[in-house]
Amino acid sequence: MELVFLGTGAGVPTTARNVTAIALTLWPERPEAWLFDCGEATQHRLQQARTSGGARVRARQLRRIFLTHLHGDHLFGLPGLLGSRSFQGAVDPVTVYGPEGIRRYLEWTLEVSRTHLTYPLEIIEIRNAGVIHRDDRYEVRADWLDHTLPSLGYRVVERDRPGRLRTDRLRALGIPPGPLYGALKRGRPVPRPGGGMVHPRDVLDPPTPGRVLTVLGDTRPCAGAASLARGADVLVHEATFGSDRADLAPAFGHSTAADAARTARDAGARALILTHISARYDKDGAQRLLEEARAVFPDTVMAFDLWSYPIPASPAARAT
Ligand SMILES: [Zn+2]
Ligand SMILES: [Zn+2]
Repeated sequence: MELVFLGTGAGVPTTARNVTAIALTLWPERPEAWLFDCGEATQHRLQQARTSGGARVRARQLRRIFLTHLHGDHLFGLPGLLGSRSFQGAVDPVTVYGPEGIRRYLEWTLEVSRTHLTYPLEIIEIRNAGVIHRDDRYEVRADWLDHTLPSLGYRVVERDRPGRLRTDRLRALGIPPGPLYGALKRGRPVPRPGGGMVHPRDVLDPPTPGRVLTVLGDTRPCAGAASLARGADVLVHEATFGSDRADLAPAFGHSTAADAARTARDAGARALILTHISARYDKDGAQRLLEEARAVFPDTVMAFDLWSYPIPASPAARAT
């Protein structure tokens, strides 16, 4: 699981920071990637970006696209990306999630440009906060934020992985290899030869806790942000402004770097990544934003375009 930052600017692109998009790779567990927002020229950034292992994230690997809101700097790259995915011969379906309006936008742009997709496209308009996706490994919850348009944040929760079977203990208990091993691994007690039961906790190492990743759309500090960020291993939060323009943040529905840091601190997040930085801040300006956030929440880093960030294992996992 790795985040690849494709665009980390706010509003308008600059040569240093493109408009918002973040890829999330799920390999090695799964040969697919997800995308959060898709600002203009996201597909160009995808061609340039590499994971920490040097791999490319290809458009055809993108299977789920989570849009936080319908402002153009989060959205205008999507029809082009979906079209290019067809040119690459993709056949795997894509599901796009976003606030109401995303269906009209996509169906209209694809229709008038006669963009024919080679794969099924599913569009899910989110009307209520709650779980929007669940499979055997991940659960994604969405909640409403506080911006000038309906804006969503997403919380990706990886399921805990069952611990390793201790074959030495199984052998000592007289359990023969075979279906009983599988049953124990799935959490079911099995009968022991000679009487009694063997419980999974007796023969399994402790489970590996799943990771929690929270990616927020544009927002003022709010209850939705706090709820989505609670105990997250990584919180990705906008920091459009610094303390020098703290007056502008609430007026435009945004947060300052210190606002983001307070949300991370109060939610008990482990790490904070700042993104969506206003074009008014150059390299030194962005450094000031980072310092303002670190004064509140030391475990803060500043995202930049084409940066990849492997999501570390949860602390309990490291302890075992
Ligand atoms: Zn924005
Ligand atoms: Zn916005």
